[in-house]
Amino acid sequence: MAEDCLFCKIVRGDISAQKVYEDDDVLAFRDINPEAPTHVLLIPKRHLPRVTDATAEDAVLLGKMLLGANAVAEREGIAANGVRYVFNTNQDAGQIIFHAHMHILGGRPMGWPPG
Ligand code: AMP
Ligand code: ZN
Repeated sequence: MAEDCLFCKIVRGDISAQKVYEDDDVLAFRDINPEAPTHVLLIPKRHLPRVTDATAEDAVLLGKMLLGANAVAEREGIAANGVRYVFNTNQDAGQIIFHAHMHILGGRPMGWPPG
């Protein structure tokens, strides 16, 4: 846990969030500023600044994040039509919050390449 990290505060319950999925290791909640009809953020409960900071010890955690995202996509009804999983990592990719998070986006056609 990082004292001043916004997403750690959500994990602790110090800041409220609209939770859509949770297990022992990961938490998913709605993005406060949605960029698509479904826009959910999925995070490890443990503070990990960037997904690129993961090590071999995090292999199970990373798998749980993907399985959790699949569960969210299924529950949100976007799995069949199309869903996009995104990790923005560091400055050029637009990472603003340095607690690794997967964006789960769906509910509309998506452009490619991303901006
Ligand atoms: P990123 O640019 O990848 O770091 O994305 C950070 C995301 O966190 C943005 O899409 C924000 O809208 C979202 N966000 C910021 N604060 C909150 C919050 N309190 N609850 C839910 N989502 C948030
Ligand atoms: Zn954190």
